[in-house]
Amino acid sequence: MQTIYKCEGCGKEFGDWRVCSDHENEHVKIESSQLLFNQGDSHPTSVKIIFNDGSWGTYSQDGIITLGEKESPLTTANSTED
Ligand SMILES: [Zn+2]
Repeated sequence: MQTIYKCEGCGKEFGDWRVCSDHENEHVKIESSQLLFNQGDSHPTSVKIIFNDGSWGTYSQDGIITLGEKESPLTTANSTED
């Protein structure tokens, strides 16, 4: 019998849970998000995600629109830091 540990982020498999855990923690997590709307629309056309490493991305049904690092050109409702 063999125990396999699987990353919940990307599905990569490991034989050692600690190695798997360390790997899993290397994936970025969502820090905050912001829905982006076209003027007058009730539903968003895209969403901006700010990750816990400071990078960010704008995503839509078409995929990744833009990716950025550290500094955000938009302010978020969840961000209260100065
Ligand atoms: Zn992974």
